[in-house]
Amino acid sequence: SGKFFVGGNWKCNGTKDTISKLITDLNSAKLEADVDVVVAPPFVYIDQVKNSLADRFEISAQNSWTGKGGAFTGEISVEQLKDIGCKWVILGHSERRHVIGEDDQFIGKKAAYALSQDLKVMACIGEKLEEREAGKTFDVCYQQLKAFADNIPSWDGVVIAYEPVWAIGTGKVASPQQAQEVHVAVRDWLKKNVSAEVASKTRIIYGGSVNGSNCAELAKQDDIDGFLVGGASLKGPEFATIVNSVT
Ligand code: 13P
Repeated sequence: SGKFFVGGNWKCNGTKDTISKLITDLNSAKLEADVDVVVAPPFVYIDQVKNSLADRFEISAQNSWTGKGGAFTGEISVEQLKDIGCKWVILGHSERRHVIGEDDQFIGKKAAYALSQDLKVMACIGEKLEEREAGKTFDVCYQQLKAFADNIPSWDGVVIAYEPVWAIGTGKVASPQQAQEVHVAVRDWLKKNVSAEVASKTRIIYGGSVNGSNCAELAKQDDIDGFLVGGASLKGPEFATIVNSVT
């Protein structure tokens, strides 16, 4: 449902030089037209990317502050992100939840503020390995979804990224069936708890060890509306292959 969406989350990687090469590769890639393609560089390189990457790409931040700027040392405000040309922000990423310690309420507050300022949100959810093994995958995803739903006034401008923690950066991609099963559950949750319209309109993308070889099978699943790509988004030609897996 909705236009295919592929995000490249560069995480905390790159230098001016490697990013300059990546921009050159992305600018020369042949990409299917009917795909939203968004890249998320580290904050300090956003301006460089905005100035040299083709307009075909939209730019995302990897985090944002919960409200207006001010005396918040080390934070970046939504207003500043918009000022330098960001259209999106990634929120609730598992690395921010589990490595840095952000909780559902904090993430929900950030999402509400970003949307209030027309910064669109990739809202990330996903279970850890021990949660999957304990049969809690759906419960964990529903709880994380609820924290977004309780805070945001509207799902316009939101893409949900299902990223099982055990699949991120591990090379252990979810099987197409495993991903599809959770995406269906997420859509059902939206239908029951938000509305049928939001359930059918909201794009649900998959992330976790997506690469040029496994993207095609995943993209065939009815409820996989695109990808959020980490490691493979740092390689221009492979990222292009993933974008072009749109069916
Ligand atoms: P990898 O593609 O490197 O597994 O990372 C996925 C991810 O966390 C995207 O946000």
